[in-house]
Amino acid sequence: MVAQRLLEHLCERPALPYSEIVVLSGEPTSAYNRILLSSWLAGDAEPESLTLKPDEWFAEHGISLRQGNPVSRIDPDQKQVHTGQGHIESYDKLVLATGSRSASLGLKGEGLEGVVGFRDLRDTRKLIEISQRNRRAVVIGGGFLGLEAAEGLRQRGMSVTLLHRGSHLLNRQLDDVGGALLARSLTERGISIQTRTSPVALLGNHRVRAVQLNNNTLISADLVVIAAGITPNSELGNEAGLDCDRAILVDGRLQTSDPSIFALGECCQFDNLTFGLVDPGYQQARVLAEVLSEVVGETDSSAVYTPDITPTKLKISGIPIFSCGQTRPDHNTESVVWQDHSTNRYCRLLIRNQTLAGAVLFGETRDGPWYTEQIQQATDISDFRSNLVFGPAYCEALA
Ligand SMILES: Cc1cc2nc3c(=O)[nH]c(=O)nc-3n(C[C@H](O)[C@H](O)[C@H](O)COP(=O)(O)OP(=O)(O)OC[C@H]3O[C@@H](n4cnc5c(N)ncnc54)[C@H](O)[C@@H]3O)c2cc1C
Repeated sequence: MVAQRLLEHLCERPALPYSEIVVLSGEPTSAYNRILLSSWLAGDAEPESLTLKPDEWFAEHGISLRQGNPVSRIDPDQKQVHTGQGHIESYDKLVLATGSRSASLGLKGEGLEGVVGFRDLRDTRKLIEISQRNRRAVVIGGGFLGLEAAEGLRQRGMSVTLLHRGSHLLNRQLDDVGGALLARSLTERGISIQTRTSPVALLGNHRVRAVQLNNNTLISADLVVIAAGITPNSELGNEAGLDCDRAILVDGRLQTSDPSIFALGECCQFDNLTFGLVDPGYQQARVLAEVLSEVVGETDSSAVYTPDITPTKLKISGIPIFSCGQTRPDHNTESVVWQDHSTNRYCRLLIRNQTLAGAVLFGETRDGPWYTEQIQQATDISDFRSNLVFGPAYCEALA
């Protein structure tokens, strides 16, 4: 998604800064909206609607697409990339936007048929196919991805058990009250939720048949979805000798330790930050388009990537959840919590030095963008703090 955004920014310029642009993609299609995989799984979107640009767009801009042909090696000395099919491509500038993959849990049985990640079109097609012929699914991971997978499979008619290691769902975003509200909503829809539970093995001969848990019980399963975090695809960079930590290290201009190679999106690490949402990647794409144009002498901008606060939303219809900024209180924050039991609404704000540091909204998320603005702009909230949980209309009345 991020490489595609970079191409679009480059194509917006009066003239393309490169005479030749080649996109080497591991997937058999051009770039698509990965975020909508959840909607496709839930039956709310068709796969065709995920495509970001038609093939003609690439042809019109003189961009060559080489699809379904992953790069297997970079040779930085020769300035060449080698693909798995033996193709060699030379470059002046190389951009790595290899994203990430579903993290492995290192469980016995992860290679069995019916054990699937939730990352791309192929995974999602497999999930849908299995759901059409089978009944019992186990989803491992109670973060955004796991919840969306669980709800999608439920909507496809499967009986779903969700396993989560933490004490409550979305434990990075919600406190125990918000987590309990969410669990109740999902349980009412028929999803079975087991928190403080981890799988220790996936059992079966050829196909997965059961999940063995750390409390020594077994759950029967025809499908197991592993959605317990992501691992940046940084191996290509690492093997080419680029400086890497948890991902490929870049500076504010998205440059790696090799001045001809850039990285952005989920495969890169800036300072101590790695990324799991698309917006930071889109900001990086804007900066990198400037930098790449400057490198060929078109501009002399001093574009630099500066990380921003990125809000997150749960994409399950009927269960609106919004989270932005700091999600866990610490000894420097105060918590303001508001809950309406009758309407199942809940809001938790974290305040530090009279500025908003984080916001979690459950049940009604309309004010999310306004809270994001207050966090990003570090607004002094002293004048309207007492009304902060009630949203902008009440705060503006006091300010
Ligand atoms: C189901 C789902 C729902 C999501 N929902 C949200 C959401 O609501 N909000 C949000 O902000 N984010 C969401 N995300 C995350 C978002 O999709 C990512 O942040 C975004 O796609 C990252 O873009 P990227 O370009 O870094 O990586 P990707 O979009 O993953 O693209 C990387 C591409 O590189 C290819 N590649 C990898 N290795 C090679 C190689 N060696 N050679 C050639 N090609 C290679 C991969 O096949 C892939 O096509 C979701 C993700 C998933 C899976």
